[in-house]
Amino acid sequence: MQAGNWCLRTLTRLRPGAQVSSRLVSSSATQASATMVQFQGPTLQISSAFDSGNIEVVDASDPANVQLKIRPDPFCESDAQAHYQWFHFQVSTAAGTPLTMHIVNAGGASYASAWQGYRAAASYDMTHWFRVDTAYDDAAGRLTIRHTPTQPCVRYAYFAPYSWERHTELVMRMQHRPNVQLHLLGRTLDGRDLHMLQVGTPAPDKAVIWVICRQHPGESMAEWFAEGLLERLTADGPAAAAAAAAAAAAGGDADVAQLLQQAVLFIVPNMCPDGSVRGHLRTNAVGSNLNREWAAPSAERSPEVLAVSRAIEATGVDFLLDVHGDEEIPANFCGSMFGVPAWGPRLERLQNCFLDALLSASPDFQTKLGYALPPPGGANLSTASKANAQKYNTLSLVLEQPFKDTTDTPNAETGWSPERAKAFGASHVTAFVNTVPTLLKERATKDEQQQ
Ligand SMILES: [Zn+2]
Repeated sequence: MQAGNWCLRTLTRLRPGAQVSSRLVSSSATQASATMVQFQGPTLQISSAFDSGNIEVVDASDPANVQLKIRPDPFCESDAQAHYQWFHFQVSTAAGTPLTMHIVNAGGASYASAWQGYRAAASYDMTHWFRVDTAYDDAAGRLTIRHTPTQPCVRYAYFAPYSWERHTELVMRMQHRPNVQLHLLGRTLDGRDLHMLQVGTPAPDKAVIWVICRQHPGESMAEWFAEGLLERLTADGPAAAAAAAAAAAAGGDADVAQLLQQAVLFIVPNMCPDGSVRGHLRTNAVGSNLNREWAAPSAERSPEVLAVSRAIEATGVDFLLDVHGDEEIPANFCGSMFGVPAWGPRLERLQNCFLDALLSASPDFQTKLGYALPPPGGANLSTASKANAQKYNTLSLVLEQPFKDTTDTPNAETGWSPERAKAFGASHVTAFVNTVPTLLKERATKDEQQQ
């Protein structure tokens, strides 16, 4: 099929003279009512007018030289910049049209050096996402995506999106599961619900585990992670089936039952719904970087953090896991609590316990690659993990997944993907089970210290 010529088989509802006829190659009513209709569509259409869409078209007149720009988030005061790196757009063209698309403002992105080694994600069905040829020209500050779609409609994104519709379907599906309660913690500035899912029943002798995901809305892998974790916890969905099969092959899976006997989990799948829907990289509706708001959250700038922070105060916490994505580093890793004023042998024991448990639970986790440590006492206490480590003198970690791929366990077709993020989330049930005894033991040592 030539570029620009679309054909539809048996367009049965088309009436002679209908409005759509302006786009028909055939101009006569007689031909329009035939079973084979030729359309003359535009050669190339690019859209981002949908959930988490983000692109500005500079020039789309030539499929071999499409010029695009990423739209920045609102200005972020705490970071003194308008962030951008997330993109998500749809291209409609004749299947088989070779596309060369340049993101011409890539050099000014929040993490421009992270474009090196990066490949864009693409999908024909919004379910299966694969990677396409991508190159970064550092001198020109230009990211180039080359792809010849095999279907007339294709999405490209920085990472597989996780839509608000999918979020809503997830939390409403989960509220039916045994051991689950859906809580509405508050409202966002755009008026969206801030959901939390409680899994299990609190008791004084149980550990309290908080898992908060996607403070940075462009890090959609964090919500795929939440979906995988929730599906395994509730034995609902494909992640649960896969995890159960793997566990059964290894001699049986009692991890979920054991975990819920010893712990209650509070899971926030999406901390930043407004930024997610608006197609932001790092900020909410008014440009607040939620992971710099924990020292002084406010109803005006960061109601999402204020609501979750108050809920954590109400439940207490033995372990907070703050799930993110990292643009640069091709690995899953945790940031250390080193540098919080409360850091010492006790927090180090807790941290090492969880890192060892996760290393055993997931082949996709590692501890060689990660962030450089801050100087002693130099941790940023406006971030969720460090603020809560200090406030509650307990285990509180940031977990990062890659936008690119894992160097130790790569997948050339998909890179890091929704399926892999979900499996990684599911693996945390096992890691939590093996961390809970130490959480409960060290909770007692904290109580002794405080007396
Ligand atoms: Zn992040």
